[in-house]
Amino acid sequence: HMPTAELQALDSAHHMHPFTAGNELAEKGARVITRAQGVTLTDSEGNSFLDAMAGLWCVNIGYGRDELAQVAARQMRELPFYNTFFQTTHVPAIALSAKLAELAPGDLNHVFFAGSGSEANDTNIRMVRTYWAMKGKPGKSIIISRKNAYHGSSVGSGSLGGMTYMHEQGGLPIPDIHHINQPHWWAEGGDLSPEEFGLARARELEEAIERLGEDRVAAFIAEPVQGAGGVVIAPQTYWPEIQRICDKYEILLIADEVICGFGRTGNWFGSQTMNIRPDIMTIAKGLSSGYAPIGGSIVSDEIADVIGSGEFNHGYTYSGHPVAAAVALENLRILEEEDIIGHVRNIAAPYLEKAWKGLADHPLVGEARSIGLMGTIALTPDKDSRAAFAGDAGAVGYICRERCFANNLIMRHVGDRMIISPPLVIRPEEIDTLVARATRALDETYAEIQK
Ligand code: PLP
Repeated sequence: HMPTAELQALDSAHHMHPFTAGNELAEKGARVITRAQGVTLTDSEGNSFLDAMAGLWCVNIGYGRDELAQVAARQMRELPFYNTFFQTTHVPAIALSAKLAELAPGDLNHVFFAGSGSEANDTNIRMVRTYWAMKGKPGKSIIISRKNAYHGSSVGSGSLGGMTYMHEQGGLPIPDIHHINQPHWWAEGGDLSPEEFGLARARELEEAIERLGEDRVAAFIAEPVQGAGGVVIAPQTYWPEIQRICDKYEILLIADEVICGFGRTGNWFGSQTMNIRPDIMTIAKGLSSGYAPIGGSIVSDEIADVIGSGEFNHGYTYSGHPVAAAVALENLRILEEEDIIGHVRNIAAPYLEKAWKGLADHPLVGEARSIGLMGTIALTPDKDSRAAFAGDAGAVGYICRERCFANNLIMRHVGDRMIISPPLVIRPEEIDTLVARATRALDETYAEIQK
C-alpha cells in the first residue's frame, strides 16, 4: 500500500469518520490498521496492538478465522444477494433465524433481521408501537430508556440513546422517548448502599410509568450492562425490580444485547446473566463477530403472533442478507463448537477479574470492575471523594488512551473512564499482557498530569 502519510492525507481529504473531529484528523492523521490476527492488530507502520476492545465490542471469536472467509466466498458464489421481502426467503436467513430461536431464552423464537444494531433498534420502536396499536391500544407509544445509554446513531436509535451530546445534533430525540437515570452506583450512589441505590434507580421506572400513564407507556429498553456509557454494571437489586415493574404494568422489556450478546458476560445473552425475561432482544456485533454487518430483533411468540396477523410495513434491503447470515451462522458454530462461552466463564473472566481488580490499587484509579469480559476503571484525582478532574471531562481519559497506544494496547476512554471488551478467545497470558500494558499507561498518565 501507499506510504502512511499519503494514506492519511487521502483519508482526511475524503473520508468522513464517525465520532471524530475532522480538524483533529487533518492535524494528526488517523491510525491506519492493515491486518489482524487473534487479539492483535497491526498498523501500516508495522506496530502491533493488543486489541482490548475487540474492534468495537464485536470481534468475539478473534481476528483471522479463515472459516468465515470461506463461507462468505462460497455464499457469494452461490447466492450473493436476494431479499426477504414479499414472501421470498433463502437458506442462510432460514438457518440463522432457526439457530437464533434455539439459542435465545424463553419464547424468543422469531427474528426480524437488520443490517446493524441501530437499524434493529429502529425496528423495535416501530414494532412495539405497532404491537400495541394492533392490540387496540394505540396510545401506548412511549418508550422509556436510560440516560447515558447508547442504542445506535440513526434518528430513532439515537433518540433511544441517552447521550445528550448526541441529541444536541440534529434535533433528537423524536417524540415519546423518555429517559430515567442509570444505575451507576460508584459515580452517583452517594450515601446509599449498592442494594438501596439499585432499587431506587429501578423505581424511577415505576415513577415514570405512573407519571406518564400506564396506558401510554409501550416499552422499557436497556442494555443488560451499559457498554458505551462506561461499562455500568447495575447493583444486584436493580434488574429483578425492573422485571417486576415491567410485569406489573404490562410494559414490554427490550434488552439491547448488541454488546452483551454472544458470550460477552459469560452466557449467550446478558439477559441470562441478569436473569431477566425480555420480550425483545436487539442483536448485532458479536452475532457475526463483526465479520459481516448484520443485526436484528429477536421477539417473543406473542409479539410475532400479533405483528404477523397483518403486514408490518418495515424492512431493509439487507434484512437477512445471505452472505452476512451465512457468516453469522458460521460464527455461531465456532462459538458453540469451541465452547468459547465456557472459556469466558471458566477461564478468561475469572482470570481477568482478579487481575483487573488489582488496578484499583493504582493512585489514579477509583473503581475497577468487570463482568464477563467487559471491564472498566474510573480515573479520579481523589479515590475517597470520587471527585472528577478539574478541567475538561475526558481530558485525562484521552491522555490515558494515547498512553495505551504508545504501549501497544487499544483501550477506549469514555470521559475519564477506561473500558475494555477484548475478543472472547483471549488467553490468560494475553490478559497478563493487557493488564501490564494498562498499568504502564496509567503510570505514564499519572506522571504526565503531575507535571
Ligand atoms: N446498541 C448498543 C448497546 C450498542 O453498543 C451499539 C453500538 O455500539 C448499538 C446498539 C448500535 O449498533 P450499530 O453500531 O451496529 O448500529
